[in-house]
Amino acid sequence: MLNIVLFGPPGAGKGTQSEKLVNKYSLIHLSTGDIFRANMKGETDLGKLAKSYMDKGELVPDQVTINMLEAEVNKYPNAMGFIFDGFPRTVPQAEALDTFLAQRNTPITLMLALEVPEQELINRLLLRGKDSGRTDDQDENIVKNRIKVYNEQTAVAAAFYQKQNKYLAVNGIGTIDEIFQRLCRAIDTRSVVH
Ligand code: ADP
Repeated sequence: MLNIVLFGPPGAGKGTQSEKLVNKYSLIHLSTGDIFRANMKGETDLGKLAKSYMDKGELVPDQVTINMLEAEVNKYPNAMGFIFDGFPRTVPQAEALDTFLAQRNTPITLMLALEVPEQELINRLLLRGKDSGRTDDQDENIVKNRIKVYNEQTAVAAAFYQKQNKYLAVNGIGTIDEIFQRLCRAIDTRSVVH
């Protein structure tokens, strides 16, 4: 099993790199943002609840997010591994994921953290907002609030993996392929196969 947490602030390139990594390593990509957006599109109760937070750039409550993530993992009993993109985003989420994966005997292999300076993040997100249709990317105040929430609530989750010696920072500036190569090198040299 290869279980990767792809970490980093909004706009760091987690989604782009996840798509490439899942192909190379035959993993299942679980993006909590994508799952919430699919629920919003389908107008499910979960989607309506998530929308009320996402529209403000706030986090969806932990227990709702944890339950959803666990249900998603359970859909793939034969997976070779997962890329968790956008999860965990808080310390309680990291703790819940650890407990859940310990029960399955498939712990996190590595947290890869994409590092990108703040002004670059804002530029990327506003650019993405122009063609993706994501309303949370179109308003500079929402974008800035998401980065603030990341700095205040999410960045601390890295320490959880640092303590377990599973944390690796990767430079998130460069071409998509350059960053992909850095991530692959990190996985190939550091990953422990469980
Ligand atoms: P980005 O990384 O660009 O912010 P995402 O698609 O990962 O985009 O997330 C979009 C929004 O979905 C977040 O701003 C948040 O409201 C919600 N969300 C996604 N993942 C989580 C999570 N693990 N916990 C709480 N809220 C989440």
